[in-house]
Amino acid sequence: MIVMNDRLPGYAGQILRVDLDSHRCTKSRTRPEVAKKYLGGKGLGTYLLTSECVPLTNPLDPGSRFIIATGPATGTSLPTASRYGVFFKSPLTGIYAESYSGGKVAPHIRWAGYDAIIVQGRAAKPVYLLVDADRVELRRADHLWGRETYETEDVIKEECGSPEFEVACIGPAGERLVAFSCLVNDYWRCAGRSGAGAVMGSKNLKAIAVRGDRNNINIADEERLRALSRELVKRLRNDRLTAEVFPKFGTPVMVNINNLAGAFPTRYWHEAHYDEYEMINAERLREKILVRSKACWGCPIACGKYCEVKDGKYAGVKVEGPEYETIYAFGGLCQINSIEAIAKLNDFCDRQGIDTITAGNVVAFAIEAFERGKLRPEFKLSYSDPDSALRLLGIICRREGVGRLLAGGVRSASKAMNLEDLAIHVKGLEPPGYDPRALKGMALSYGTSTRGACHLRSSIYAAELGGSMNPLSTDTEKVRLVKEWEDKFTIMDSLILCRFARNAYDWNILAELTTLLTGIEYTDRMLASIAEDIVNLTRTFNVREGISRKDDYLPKRLMTEPIPSGPSRGALVEKSSFDQMLDEYYRLRRWDPDGRPIARAETKPIE
Ligand code: SF4
Repeated sequence: MIVMNDRLPGYAGQILRVDLDSHRCTKSRTRPEVAKKYLGGKGLGTYLLTSECVPLTNPLDPGSRFIIATGPATGTSLPTASRYGVFFKSPLTGIYAESYSGGKVAPHIRWAGYDAIIVQGRAAKPVYLLVDADRVELRRADHLWGRETYETEDVIKEECGSPEFEVACIGPAGERLVAFSCLVNDYWRCAGRSGAGAVMGSKNLKAIAVRGDRNNINIADEERLRALSRELVKRLRNDRLTAEVFPKFGTPVMVNINNLAGAFPTRYWHEAHYDEYEMINAERLREKILVRSKACWGCPIACGKYCEVKDGKYAGVKVEGPEYETIYAFGGLCQINSIEAIAKLNDFCDRQGIDTITAGNVVAFAIEAFERGKLRPEFKLSYSDPDSALRLLGIICRREGVGRLLAGGVRSASKAMNLEDLAIHVKGLEPPGYDPRALKGMALSYGTSTRGACHLRSSIYAAELGGSMNPLSTDTEKVRLVKEWEDKFTIMDSLILCRFARNAYDWNILAELTTLLTGIEYTDRMLASIAEDIVNLTRTFNVREGISRKDDYLPKRLMTEPIPSGPSRGALVEKSSFDQMLDEYYRLRRWDPDGRPIARAETKPIE
């Protein structure tokens, strides 16, 4: 049955604009032509950001925009439809940024009636935004300023008078504009990468609290969508990855896989395997600290691992995690060989509201700088020392001493210390835990991902590590696959669906469910074309900021220093083959040889 009413099927139908300069909140209709062209989530968020954010705006100026978006799938019966995305210009990289988080916040934003929330300006004093369906208020948050994230969430829920409210907030690091601070909800779910916390902090916006009514949802064909959702849950339960691997081990399963492949970055990217990996892998996590698996709203996979440290100096730590990326960043890069200590570092980062990937990279970089006599904190820094790592992160989050220098991330610290040749980042974003010298698809992905070194735009590592593709090949088929996966994930991030469910959501299913949600007949080819437009729009944003081919290369060390030992010994990102991959990628994307989209997507401002 197709339901048509005055609201746009498949959408909440409204965009909320919060002007913190004037303390005014206004609503506008989601424009059907924009929804059709950009779907929602990433597409809508990127469209709004590109339309509204004046090129070369300082990300921390009041004029910058902070956009939170849901997608047509959010809060529906579809499995894993529990994520929101944030879109902004990054204070860490100075370019386009996107980041996503699960938990329970996103469905409430949709049920409250909003496809996106645009935040602009700067409040004179700290505030938080309360959205209770139609009722929208800015509330004072002086009493919350300085508080950690868990406490902030608790206090706001209490003030709202109902546990039904969901809260996304920043911690003290975001307030102090640490460039890799993040947005945290459900205590441990984070929109982690690129500095969303600092952008909110610069606007004096401590948190967003939201409550919606789950009956307030408008879907073109709800009955058939429910039937499809049941079918998709069956698919997820029949797939080994989502039925066994993620529920049992979560993302830490990648420790063994990457280490075996010689792709586990270790000792600040000097090595690609870690002899003591069994102290920090998924089996160790299960044996020592796991309490139970945990799921985001509407997810049958439950990849989250709720853990408690029961004994030793970190006894009492409770955290959902550590995820693989946190284990790599502190375990591999900083060589911290204790899953309990990594859980403690994870807990610290979540409380302060900082991204664990960049945090681990910054600590390891600081250790190297310390060893070279370029950084002189009041205490000794060394590998395998969780307590000095914690102390260092403490002064970074408080911006004290050398912490002030490191609060801008690896790129800015390396410039200040004249250690740019040592620094590992792409476009200012520190990489996740896949050594691109051993995984050439990831090399291309790091180079071309719009937000900088990122594992989530194409996630080609799954094919490279899964045995279906030679990890060292740089052939055109691999480039084609990087682009195709990036396109598919662009659609999943626009709808928004969790990419861990990627095996269930093939192109035909994505087209079918988008049709059922919106009532518009979509085909897989139409979706692929929409994905291309969205990717081009993200690149257009960056081109406006001065990004071109020169910025798509990997850091010097990864292109000149072969992996010295282990399973991938000798592997390197060679410039000639990397250039060939770039050329092919640009050709497939219809970008010119300098990496500029030839057909630029339309970016008229929304009324
Ligand atoms: S697979 Fe994991 S991250 Fe994805 S929705 Fe489920 S619990 Fe959340």
